[in-house]
Amino acid sequence: MNHLSLRRAFAIFLSIFSISCQSQPQVRDSSKTSAISAFSQLESDFFKELWALDPNYALAVGRQEQDQQLTIMNEEYFKNQKFFILKYQKQLESLDTKRLSPAEAMDRAILLNALAQMQWEYEKFKSWQWDPSNYNLGPVLALIVESHQRSDAQKKAALIAKFQQFPQYYQAAEKNIENPTAEHLKLSIQQNKGLMDYLQNNLTTILGSSQEAFLALETAKNSVKKFIAFLQKKQSSKKLKSFRIGSLLYEEKFKYNLQIRLTPLQVYQEAIKAKAQAHQEMAHRAEQLWPKYFPKVKAPADQLKMIRQVVDAVAQNHGSAEDFVPSIRKQIPELWDFVVAKNLITLDPSKKLKVRETPEYERGVAGAGVDAPGPFDQDRETFYNVSPLTGMTKEQQQSYLREYNNYTLQILNIHEAIPGHYVQLVYSLKSPSLTKKRFGNGPMVEGWAVYGERMMMEEGYGNNSPELWLMYYKWRLRVICNTILDYSIHTQNWSHDQAMNLLIKEAFQEKAEAEEKWKRATLTQVQLVSYFSGYTEIYNFRESLKKQKGSAFSLKDFHEKFLSFGSAPIPLIEDAMGKVF
Ligand code: ZN
Repeated sequence: MNHLSLRRAFAIFLSIFSISCQSQPQVRDSSKTSAISAFSQLESDFFKELWALDPNYALAVGRQEQDQQLTIMNEEYFKNQKFFILKYQKQLESLDTKRLSPAEAMDRAILLNALAQMQWEYEKFKSWQWDPSNYNLGPVLALIVESHQRSDAQKKAALIAKFQQFPQYYQAAEKNIENPTAEHLKLSIQQNKGLMDYLQNNLTTILGSSQEAFLALETAKNSVKKFIAFLQKKQSSKKLKSFRIGSLLYEEKFKYNLQIRLTPLQVYQEAIKAKAQAHQEMAHRAEQLWPKYFPKVKAPADQLKMIRQVVDAVAQNHGSAEDFVPSIRKQIPELWDFVVAKNLITLDPSKKLKVRETPEYERGVAGAGVDAPGPFDQDRETFYNVSPLTGMTKEQQQSYLREYNNYTLQILNIHEAIPGHYVQLVYSLKSPSLTKKRFGNGPMVEGWAVYGERMMMEEGYGNNSPELWLMYYKWRLRVICNTILDYSIHTQNWSHDQAMNLLIKEAFQEKAEAEEKWKRATLTQVQLVSYFSGYTEIYNFRESLKKQKGSAFSLKDFHEKFLSFGSAPIPLIEDAMGKVF
């Protein structure tokens, strides 16, 4: 639950950089500088060409000029993409790095990594062949429908034009999908069924009753229906691909996606250590709380069992299923006030955060996530999407509510909203680099949200309640175990039983939560590691600066400076801050 929703829809380009909400570019305002640097010109050309190559991506970042097009991933598209990669690799490599500003050098490194990753994705990783959830037009349509920039007539024209290309889009998809995994097939079927619902129920007002709109919509529905049937037929295939990517691809994906200093094995080893530490801290709080929750009962000798009992007792403090979304809505102003009162970071009251139920077509991977406007659509509200518990049985609801009890829900809101993802996004929109905002770095974004949890607790959020600390560590164990799980599933062939043992016994999770995490680990790779690896690098960096600066260190300055570089790889931010902070 503690991650951004994955917008897998936007062709290959966005599925590589699969964390959606931090990727919000803004065109550098070149009118303010008299001479545009060679790098700025190159960067500007790069993105313009990319938008033309990938209209779904252009839409995702708020551009309107490709509104009449869809990204159709056919042979021509891949050929153009290859040409694009080679062209810009050559140009970026031939730049005289001595003449670049530090910020430009940072951007150049990010672009080169992005191009290498794109090439690797197409030639070696090939998820466009085995992950059918790459093909989902739900978010594409929603971006048109929810846009504040477009008139109703423009929305209608864009939708009709896109509908008319649905057949080509899905033909290309069917041709590309060769050896899907069972898990991604299932996800894709679910998402496309959600899209069918959306086409049937949500577009009447915009489309009106013209014959042209009716026919275009029918074309779209038939294409989606046909695609679902195609996927369902694939499900019965005898040779479906394994979802485990193996050590070699894992290491490569880790390198391109995370861009941190540590290796996969090092991060894994850090996580094993952190797990032991969290257990110690929890034992301490649980012992303290035991007499309050179990007066006159002797605590079990087994430490993990004792912790589990106290955790379970504290988790009984939860709201009702109907109140789930409203209670999150109510908490946002409380977090805001704490951050302001403690002077932790400057917040911008003009950027509204609206809590809402997650739209159907986006449900399936994450339970909650921030959905931010693009840089060219900055007036649109930022949504905090929360999936309501309506589709669950009573038993599932109770399990879920114990997991997201009154204490844990506060940590979740810190992570997703304040001072976590939402605040980071607002800062990243102000950052003047197109590149850094576009190629959002997972460990920076997730690491920041996890760091925010720790920092709020250290600053006395929740009045040092032992219950909140206990639940904080339980939540932290989740991040730690995400790392252990992802690494072990994809490179150590871990079974479902091994995963359940880790998550339920050692991370004290409910079964429903553990199953959900298993599902996510089978659908994604490396992304689950971003949290812990990013947190570790940010926290250690802050501590080293504190030591270095002594009483001159200001927490607020550190936070604002750190976020001011946008969602760049942490080692690059550290280098830049080391020079100016
Ligand atoms: Zn997150």
